[in-house]
Order: sequence, then C-alpha cells, then structure tokens
Amino acid sequence: MSRVAGVDLGGTNITAVLLNGDDEIVDRERRKTPEGGPEAVVAQIVKAVAKLDKEPRAIGVGAPGPIRDGVVMTAPNLVGWQEPFDLAGALRDALDLPVGVDNDATVGALGEWTAGAGRGASCLLGAWIGTGVGGGLVLDGRPYRGAFGGAGEFGHMIVHRGGALCGCGRRGCVEAYAGRAALEGAAVTAAQAGRPTAMLEIQERLGKRRMTSAVWATALEEGDALARRLFGDAIDALGCGLSAVINLLDLDTVVLGGGLAEKLGEDFVEAVAEATRPRVLTGADERRFLLAELGDDAGAIGAAALAREALG
Ligand SMILES: [Zn+2]
Repeated sequence: MSRVAGVDLGGTNITAVLLNGDDEIVDRERRKTPEGGPEAVVAQIVKAVAKLDKEPRAIGVGAPGPIRDGVVMTAPNLVGWQEPFDLAGALRDALDLPVGVDNDATVGALGEWTAGAGRGASCLLGAWIGTGVGGGLVLDGRPYRGAFGGAGEFGHMIVHRGGALCGCGRRGCVEAYAGRAALEGAAVTAAQAGRPTAMLEIQERLGKRRMTSAVWATALEEGDALARRLFGDAIDALGCGLSAVINLLDLDTVVLGGGLAEKLGEDFVEAVAEATRPRVLTGADERRFLLAELGDDAGAIGAAALAREALG
C-alpha cells in the first residue's frame, strides 16, 4: 500500500499524520485551527501536509458537521465557517492529490475498522460517546454514507417518544440521555432541585470546570446515587438504540469510543452490551462489542483510511 496522509480537523487543533504502507504513523504535524474561515483552514492544512516528512499519495480529512460529497455543510465548532464549503475540492486544487473528506464520526468508524478494534468486521457501527453521541457505519465491508451523506446519526435515534430534550431540538434521542452535555445538564438540574449527590463536590475536588468523564468515573466509583441513576438511564438509552440498529442491520461488530467510553473502559462496554443483548433477535452469541483502540489518533488514522479510499 502507498503512503497517505490523514488530517483531523478539530475546533482547536489540526493534526496531520503520515502513514506508511503498513498503516504505521511515520510523521506527525500539529497546528492551531485558524479562526479565519474555510480558506484559512485550507491554507493551514496545506502547510501541515507540506511539512510532513514525505509527500503522501492522497489525503483524507475528518471534519466536524454534516458533509455531503466532500462539502462541509455547516461546522458550528469552526469559527467563521457558516456557509457550505467544498473542502475536498479546495484541497484537491491546492495539493493536486486525491482527497477524501468525511465527517469525524464516520472517519472514526473507518479508522477503527481498518486499523483498530473493528479490524475484519463485515458490518460495524462505531458509536462515539462524548459531549454528544455520534456514529459511523460500515456495511458489507464498505463505509456506508446513505443517500444524502447523513447515515450513522446514532445519537439522534429516538429511544423515548416525547422524552428528554436533545441538543438537536427533538425529544428522546440517545444523545439526550447518553451525551456528556446532557448528563451534566440533568445532574446540575437535579442537584439544584435538592437531590442528594456529591457530583458538584467531586467536580470541585478534581478541579474541573465541567462534569468531565473523570468526574463521572469518580462519582460512579464512589457509588453516588444520582450519578448511578443518570448513568443507568444512559446505558439503557444506548442499549435501546443499539438493539434497534442491530435488529435492522444485523451488525457483527459494535465499537464504542469517545471520551466517556474510553474513560470508563471495558466495564462500560460490558454494561452497554448487557443492555443491548436481550433486545436483539439474532446473533446474540457471535456479535462483538469492543472498546475503541485508536484513542487520540482515531481521527487522523481514520482520515488516512479515507485517503486510501480516495486512491481507489
Ligand atoms: Zn437529537
């Protein structure tokens, strides 16, 4: 296989990695994400790629927000980026290389499938549980994007009709129960209403400004009743959502990643698997539930997989 580059475009940093033919990272460049809109971001990516040890044969980019055919439709996490922008086209023009661009959740699933926990899977969902909840699909050994590029929105599957309000404006989505932002909102509301909990105290003790994954891990470890109840609801919502995906698509592999999953590790994966299995019709014994392996490099390595796809 040839040398390719993967670029993880985040709200704070741009990370570019160079992968050799064995999918090993042989060089890495990191820069601040500029705030001057799409053109400034393109210029910064071009600079980062040019600084890599050797010239890649193709590049892939994982970017936030919905993406259709290489066009970033909206990117609320990127400053000055309001209108749809053809990121793939702009990079192709600037670098004269094959370019693939996709959304970070899809790219994460691709990375885990090609070089992480999901290697060898035929039908896989990568579910990312962090501030929000995202997902990416591989079906029959190929990344699946759907008719309009919007497949894999696992976080917005409705698991409670008329349930908790989600960041997307709808009610009862998986993310409204299992996303860290939603969990924090529910915990703060309950604490302010006088429910006994040590969560705010734990947050202060750990010196965190937000209820990070570490705060949740500590609260659960210490047996905080509110943390346990909210987290139980989160696991249940994830189990409902995953069982629906599995009953529809008969996946062989589910990879769980993102800040919360990675902080809580195998126990979290086992809890989610236990909440899912009884609701699934077929394949209960063969299906794998796995913790993501690529960690902080997932985005860039997944983007490199996109580059390989662009090479054809
Ligand atoms: Zn939603």
